[in-house]
Amino acid sequence: MISNYDQFRKIIHIDMDAFYASVEQRDNPELRGKPIAVGGGEKRGVTTTASYEARKFGVKSAMPGWKAKELCPDLIFVKPRFEAYKQVSNQIRAIFKRYTDLIEPLSLDEAYLDVTINKIDQPIATEIAKAIKNDILQETLLTASAGVSYCKFIAKIASDIQKPNGLTVIKPHQATEFLETLPIQKFFGVGKVTAAKMTSMGITNGLDLKAFSKMDLVSRFGKNGAFYFDMVRGIDDRPVEPFRIRKSLAVETTFDDYLNEPADILNCIETIAQELFLRIERSNFQGKTLTLKIKNKSFQQWTRSVSQVFVFDNLEQISAFAKSLVNQNLDLCTDVRLIGLTVSNPISEDPKVSGQLELPFE
Ligand SMILES: [Mg+2]
Repeated sequence: MISNYDQFRKIIHIDMDAFYASVEQRDNPELRGKPIAVGGGEKRGVTTTASYEARKFGVKSAMPGWKAKELCPDLIFVKPRFEAYKQVSNQIRAIFKRYTDLIEPLSLDEAYLDVTINKIDQPIATEIAKAIKNDILQETLLTASAGVSYCKFIAKIASDIQKPNGLTVIKPHQATEFLETLPIQKFFGVGKVTAAKMTSMGITNGLDLKAFSKMDLVSRFGKNGAFYFDMVRGIDDRPVEPFRIRKSLAVETTFDDYLNEPADILNCIETIAQELFLRIERSNFQGKTLTLKIKNKSFQQWTRSVSQVFVFDNLEQISAFAKSLVNQNLDLCTDVRLIGLTVSNPISEDPKVSGQLELPFE
């Protein structure tokens, strides 16, 4: 039994609630209280973010517009305004910086903060999370949810527990019970495929997972097996890394319904390209290779890449190259369940970059 909790880190995961949809409702009063879907339209589009009013009907991210409309006939489709989202993203990052410089952004609206040592000398991380949530609300008129724990993995799950406007704290002594009852698909690095495999092994929650030895898990899941072994025991020493040197930048979306129509697929490419472009701008990542990844219904995956002498740094170019990769491989685009776009092959020749340790799953 560990009695001195001061030896633990204090990590906060902040995640804005229904981010794009909330910004649209804030800026367009006529949309408030209504079910809206930000993303493509009803015909060929895909929903990026649904408002909470729409979620009640089962409308979700990555759902085709027609299906969303079927579930929620009054659904209003709204075109994304990435500039507005980026502006809010800058605002919340400025707020984080008042408390710590150890900030690791995961996307425009999500970040890890290490507040073990912080700029306001507040020893209680929960108080910092409250203050940040309050600052965000005052300054952006939007709500965020926060998860507080001693490691990244648990903080991230915690932020999702009481959404929207939630604050969930998992203290070190609560972690064992929390993880034992946690459904297996919530574990870090466990996607749909791994979850299905674990279910077939009789693993439905953390407690079931704990029954397997490290060797057993490694033999079944490769090096990730060792990772799962540690995670379920609450061991996650990954630091919050503000200056992680990137080797690539990727955006991918999984669909509930399989896509077959080229027009649907190209529409999704457009949305994914936009998100990728935003991340490129934000991180200043410069890469010369663009890769398209497609997974189908039977989890078969293929990738196609294109490289150029200059970097991928504008939206039209990324979108056009990605679409041509799709168009060149239309025969392979059947029952599509996942589409991903990655920019890699950074221009830097710095040996530090090529020697950078890569973490799994990120
Ligand atoms: Mg969010």
